[in-house]
Amino acid sequence: MRVLLLATTTGYQTRAFGDAAERLGVELVFATDRCRNLDDPWRDGAIAIRFHDEAASVAAIVDAARAQPIDGLLAVGDQPTVIAARVAQALGLPGHSPEASAAARNKQATRECLRAAGLWVPWFFTVPVTADPDAIASSLAFPCVIKPLALSGSRGVMRADDPASFREAFLRLRALLQTPDIHAKRNTEHETVLVEGFIPGREFAVEGLLHHGVLHVLAIFDKPDPLDGPFFEETIYLTPSSWREAGQRAIVDAVTRAAEALGLRHGPVHAECRVNEGGVFVLEVAARPIGGLCARALRFQQGVGSLFQFLPEAPAEIEKGSRPLEEILLRHALGESPDHWTREPLASGVMMIPIPRRGVFRGVAGVAGDDGACAVEHIDEVRITAKPDQLLTPLPEGASYLGFIFARAADAAAVDRALRAAHARLRFAIEPEWPVVQSRHG
Ligand code: ADP
Repeated sequence: MRVLLLATTTGYQTRAFGDAAERLGVELVFATDRCRNLDDPWRDGAIAIRFHDEAASVAAIVDAARAQPIDGLLAVGDQPTVIAARVAQALGLPGHSPEASAAARNKQATRECLRAAGLWVPWFFTVPVTADPDAIASSLAFPCVIKPLALSGSRGVMRADDPASFREAFLRLRALLQTPDIHAKRNTEHETVLVEGFIPGREFAVEGLLHHGVLHVLAIFDKPDPLDGPFFEETIYLTPSSWREAGQRAIVDAVTRAAEALGLRHGPVHAECRVNEGGVFVLEVAARPIGGLCARALRFQQGVGSLFQFLPEAPAEIEKGSRPLEEILLRHALGESPDHWTREPLASGVMMIPIPRRGVFRGVAGVAGDDGACAVEHIDEVRITAKPDQLLTPLPEGASYLGFIFARAADAAAVDRALRAAHARLRFAIEPEWPVVQSRHG
């Protein structure tokens, strides 16, 4: 059996898929963006495509698949989801439709689909990125949120509480959308800005697999840190959720309806919701699995279980029998129903280590050793992904983290405590980008 993986970048998740594929005896074929990978990064003949040229990318993959047939496919990251859907359609493989994947990837189209289906959405409208922010602000209700239509990871998402902060945020978003690296994507969606009402409340993420129109929830994550702006940096994800069961059911119900409204039917989904007394507001349902390293927080075991009830088992047994998310995704891509897989009984969590300030990353202390982050009880792994001498850019402009901390324990509160305790032991050396020069002119 052969599975095609469309991936934004090389890196951890593609390696994790490689390991899972090897165990399953499945051959992986990669298609990746040539802009990022000029050589053949895996030396295994990845199909070189251009994410911004969808028609040519689809043609190249379909051609390659004629010579070397594939039995299933998966997209990792937001960018290749529509290409993946078009390839699935061309080859007659099950997957999300191209129209649904395109709507899921565009925040304006998502809002329109959800509103038309009668789901909770904030008020919203779009304006050109070149518009005059003062003219827009004069008739706005505050607080509001502005965001790009097609970036991810909270990049460019900002809250404004009054006309002055709206103006500042708008100009900042304009500058971001006009930077060379975003221009290089040649995406006309970056010419438009979405303005919408701020939704107060708690935030949750849902990881799921749609199987021929039926949503199988793999995990509901709590985001315990308040996300009230002005920027929306995600830090901790914890599962299982500590939210009351009826609340979790309402979240699953809203995500199910949102996926249906978007037309998503078959394949991985990752949804984000905000919940308050008004109801569940689905912010987005992405037609892809949870990003990159965070997938490590999810392990599964076979057996019919319930999302809300877990049977206690000995940790060693759990470890032996549990499978990574990548394996479940590969099995599903090859047609297997996800019904028989349930998340492991242990609570699990990940901290995406935020970038505290702009500067050059020189290194980190406090990872190993008796006093290090790894020695904190329940910590599984501390992985620093920032590279020495890398220029670090925090949100809202940045698109990366310093690294990730993973923990598992008997309950989510212990996971939360472990993640924070481990983080507190890390000491990052970040130097100013330029030597600071004192000037009489300020
Ligand atoms: P991205 O796809 O970049 O993650 P989102 O639209 O999901 O962009 O927004 C990122 C984060 O910003 C959300 O997880 C949430 O915390 C916050 N956010 C976005 N829109 C709103 C809103 N209308 N009200 C309150 N918070 C919001």
